[in-house]
Amino acid sequence: MGLILRRNARHLLRYSRQLTLSNERGDLSPRRSVVIAVIDFHTHSAASDGALRARDLVARAADEGVTRFALTDHDTIAGYLSMAQCVPHGLDLVSGVELSCQWGRVGIHVIGLGFDESNADLLEHLAQLDASRVDRAARIAHRLEKAGMPGALEGALEIAAGAQIGRPHFARWMMASGHVDTEQDAFKRFLGRGKPGDISVLWPALQCSVESIIQAGGVAVLAHPLEYKMTATRLRALRDAFCEAGGQAIEVINGRANPGDADQLWRLADERELMVSVGSDFHRDTPYGAGLGVDVTAFPEGRGVWEVLCAA
Ligand code: AMP
Ligand code: MN
Ligand code: MN
Ligand code: MN
Repeated sequence: MGLILRRNARHLLRYSRQLTLSNERGDLSPRRSVVIAVIDFHTHSAASDGALRARDLVARAADEGVTRFALTDHDTIAGYLSMAQCVPHGLDLVSGVELSCQWGRVGIHVIGLGFDESNADLLEHLAQLDASRVDRAARIAHRLEKAGMPGALEGALEIAAGAQIGRPHFARWMMASGHVDTEQDAFKRFLGRGKPGDISVLWPALQCSVESIIQAGGVAVLAHPLEYKMTATRLRALRDAFCEAGGQAIEVINGRANPGDADQLWRLADERELMVSVGSDFHRDTPYGAGLGVDVTAFPEGRGVWEVLCAA
């Protein structure tokens, strides 16, 4: 679906950026102008667990017709800072980050967009996340060592090469060392929920993360709400807690979401008059993954976070 959207968008961009459409009354009636908008407000670079360097990713996004873009690496803005000054022509860059936090015992991701990247409180929040991730990595490695995989910390750090360390780096090291056949396999057997390498981290509370973004002038988006595998009632409770903390938007399209999912997420947003955001959650090219960019031309006006965010 991502690919089809992307191809359509590119086609339209190339042949009719200012597409003029006649209305039902035919040729004599006034024509209106529709500006194509292709947004991607959820992407990852090699500064966290993505494959591409931030500057290569943003260049590719521009090349593929994305008009507004945010790099939302896990708990770091290093990639964003590395390319914020060399943005390709025709693409509006917005500052971004995907913050790890927790609501009760559940790990939740909140996306921050359009914040001031020099805000001291936000930088302090990110520094704490850095420290938590380094600490967690040592504990994951300890567990993997007990499971017969010595050298996991050094191996994962080498693969991360200075990036914000995360479970995907362990998964890649386990694959490279022959402990598992695929990264999926590493998550399924060792790193996923309830497995030995699933360390319960005390991430900052949801409220704290939302506040960090907002006090830095940004917009907070509840990322991929259906990934938390909650009942509808519990998901509404999460949405309400997010709202009460000051959260402003729901991510209604994440990667290759199916239309039924999007409908459910629009209802979740509508019930509290929240804005909506969209993104590919691109990490790397995979056969079944979404391409960059979501065409939001048909979205109702006045609901997208992109309508309230200025370019960096
Ligand atoms: P972390 O932020 O270190 O907790 O790692 C979470 C990241 O791992 C997610 O952002 C995904 O990119 C990736 N991930 C989570 N589950 C899986 C899985 N089953 N297979 C492959 N990658 C996964
Ligand atoms: Mn990731
Ligand atoms: Mn996420
Ligand atoms: Mn993500």
